Amino acid sequence: MSFDELQLHPDLLRGIRALGFEKPTPIQTAAVPPAMTGRDVLACAQTGSGKTAAFLLPLLHQLLTGRDGRGDGNGRANGSGRGATRVLVLTPTRELAAQVAADMQDLARFAPVRAAAIFGGVAMGPQEQALRRGVDVVVATPGRLLDHLSRPYASLDRVEHLVLDEADRMLDMGFLPDIRRILGQLPARRQTLLFSATIPYEIADLAGRMLRDPVQVEMARTGTPAEGVDQSVYPVEQHRKTALLLDLLGRGDMEEALVFTRTKRRADRLAKQLSKGGIRAERIHGDRSQGQRTAALSGFKAGRIRVLVATDVASRGIDVEALGHVVNYDVPNSPEDYVHRVGRTGRAEMTGSAFTFVSLQEEADLQAIEKLIRRQLPRVKLPGFEHGAVFWGRKGNGNGNGNGDRNGNGRANGNGPSAPEGRRTEGADAGSNGAVRRNGNGALATAAKEDGPPSPARRSSRLGIRRGARR
Ligand code: AMP
Repeated sequence: MSFDELQLHPDLLRGIRALGFEKPTPIQTAAVPPAMTGRDVLACAQTGSGKTAAFLLPLLHQLLTGRDGRGDGNGRANGSGRGATRVLVLTPTRELAAQVAADMQDLARFAPVRAAAIFGGVAMGPQEQALRRGVDVVVATPGRLLDHLSRPYASLDRVEHLVLDEADRMLDMGFLPDIRRILGQLPARRQTLLFSATIPYEIADLAGRMLRDPVQVEMARTGTPAEGVDQSVYPVEQHRKTALLLDLLGRGDMEEALVFTRTKRRADRLAKQLSKGGIRAERIHGDRSQGQRTAALSGFKAGRIRVLVATDVASRGIDVEALGHVVNYDVPNSPEDYVHRVGRTGRAEMTGSAFTFVSLQEEADLQAIEKLIRRQLPRVKLPGFEHGAVFWGRKGNGNGNGNGDRNGNGRANGNGPSAPEGRRTEGADAGSNGAVRRNGNGALATAAKEDGPPSPARRSSRLGIRRGARR
């Protein structure tokens, strides 16, 4: 199917052409036609599937054609003067809200639609002014939206279309009470589109209450990462993860990478260690200001920063063209987070790789992931890094920066035991970690001094890759 066949408003078709989209993605083909006619939609789709345009296009089309009864039918979203907000998109994070608003501006660049992004971490003033002036579309995170709604200038009583984006993530982040409060301020008669990467019980329950006779669109089995993502697992001693990451970066076969840690502190520490190791790295997490996050993200997108270290919450909404590599420095706590993380690469028409560093302590978490995605991931064992590997760490800067850590052969990382020819891929061999060799010669103790004692609380994993290519 082509975009022309979808019969979208000509202004939108121009925007789509300008973006270089050649044809609708599967989620767009499935969700746009029913959503254009005003039907409710429950869509199970991952980040990277083109889901944002799948909900924006039909809603913009309705605004522009007056199909929802409010547009003037002449391509103007509002027939007169100060417009009331008619589309509300709720997202779990600031980054995603900013991303959705940016996507909207791109798609509607030839259409007279006014939009505002409403999220925390920045001043209320400009957002208040936008709301006072009147905008057709509001893309918001729940908390900041409620702040505005407690004031007289903000109203949602003319909203006709509601989108809940990444609903499962909103649930995980505890936004359900906020969402219920917002729903209470919306007209009961409206169109609702609910998008979620996974449909756990609570989301199905919410959908059952909110949606009227929804069209259900399931693009991928629940919890399945996008096709085209090459996923593998690197068994590694806990304290050797940074060294492994530096080693892989040092080979030059990984241009850039988005690297996930479990905690903000670990993100800070890893970014610092990478910088010390000569890698341009930045980090984004909940304690960073909006300005810092935006600067880090734009530096990464522009190629000034090679590694962006992120926590799960902060990663939502990161949309980087041609991101080839995602590294799970820490195995995520929740298997769903794995799917979300991996969704950062292999977006739309791209291919990518996702590497997960797994220490012995993280094996159970990995198994939960493999259960969710219903497949075992191939193990890649790099000599010198795998569980129980013999190496004599030198008391150094604590980061295994390619100068300090040495392998059992006395060669610096990046040249020796983990050189490409030493790489061995084992297909779907979950039991391969049973081959743990405890050397009993003090190597582990020495290593522990370098990066702290291995413990479940002190984890990291990460791997580098090369830029994704168009399939
Ligand atoms: P999303 O799943 O909405 O986060 O979209 C992932 C990426 O796919 C974004 O960079 C979009 O700009 C891009 N995209 C969306 N629709 C299409 C399309 N029909 N063709 C090519 N790329 C697309």
